[in-house]
Amino acid sequence: MPSRPTKTGRLALSVVVPCFNEAQGLPLFVERMMAAAQAVARGSYELVLVNDGSRDATWEVIRGLTARHPAVVGINLTRNHGHQLAVTAGLSLSRGARVLIIDADLQDPPELLPDMMARMDEGYDVVYGRRRTRTDESRFKVATAAMFYRLLGRLSEVDIPVDTGDFRLMSRRIVDRLNAMPEHDRYLRGMVAWLGGAQAELLYDRDPRHAGETGYTLRKMLRLAVNGVTSFSTAPLKAALVLATVGIFIAAGILIYALIGFFTGSVQPGWTSLALIMVFFGISQLGCLAIIGAYVGRTYMQLKGRPLFLIDEIATQAPASPAGRAPAKHPPAARAKTPRRWAG
Ligand code: UDP
Ligand code: MG
Repeated sequence: MPSRPTKTGRLALSVVVPCFNEAQGLPLFVERMMAAAQAVARGSYELVLVNDGSRDATWEVIRGLTARHPAVVGINLTRNHGHQLAVTAGLSLSRGARVLIIDADLQDPPELLPDMMARMDEGYDVVYGRRRTRTDESRFKVATAAMFYRLLGRLSEVDIPVDTGDFRLMSRRIVDRLNAMPEHDRYLRGMVAWLGGAQAELLYDRDPRHAGETGYTLRKMLRLAVNGVTSFSTAPLKAALVLATVGIFIAAGILIYALIGFFTGSVQPGWTSLALIMVFFGISQLGCLAIIGAYVGRTYMQLKGRPLFLIDEIATQAPASPAGRAPAKHPPAARAKTPRRWAG
């Protein structure tokens, strides 16, 4: 997903906003967001509003806003692709040196932007908002979300911060790396955590939705949760291995019981052999599933096509550089022969 070629060059800031049925609240959001962006980026910013197949007048509102404000860029997706893909579309078209992802419903306060920028100035690649409180959200949602984030934390191999959504400020290099990750089922907050680097949190209070109603139905929430777990963990696939291991111990018990029964003659004839056959095939099937699971898991992770590692920085003294690094003063022939191993 290449960035759009720009006429204006790099902007200081892009704000990416997924919008699904937000016609009512969008004008106020844009007003508050522009004031915040103006304060930190003085004219060098853009607001990328992504209409994710809304069924109300969101796109017309966005078109109106683009006509009025040169900083507003509208993107209309062909249908509802879901929040994560709407954000992905916005990120791929963003041009800013820093990119803010924020919801359109004013639950994430735009006024936090200056604090986020200040944190990033301290040298962070990512500053994510972490919810201290969530006002006006159903108990069910808050409780299930809290449980889910903790479960995912246990299953996932990377540390995905708990109680954070996608409200975050990211540096250009993080955005470029995200854009280069081709995986289909995107759980962005996990992918950003996976990228690593210096990441800081900023505590904030989540406001109630300003207008309209939530576009995250239970179904969409479940899909996001399943994406989160399956994108960052093959633990469910390993369940067969755990079951097979437990099964072996149970089988050993049954085996002893069956043999005692057989020799003391206290069981029906035929029961011992039946029990043994069932135990044997049960364990072998679970064992085979565990083996297949191990391969499927590896195939799946390989298929994601993520880079193997990401380099934060290379430190070197230019003249006495390590083998493989060709300082600029080498003759061109020597430079051409030297493999650029660190690139990529
Ligand atoms: N959203 C989207 N596509 C969807 C659902 C939601 O682009 O299919 C947007 C929505 O307009 C909002 C953000 O994603 O800007 C968060 O959604 P919402 O506020 O409905 O979720 P909640 O805050 O209730 O979890
Ligand atoms: Mg919301």
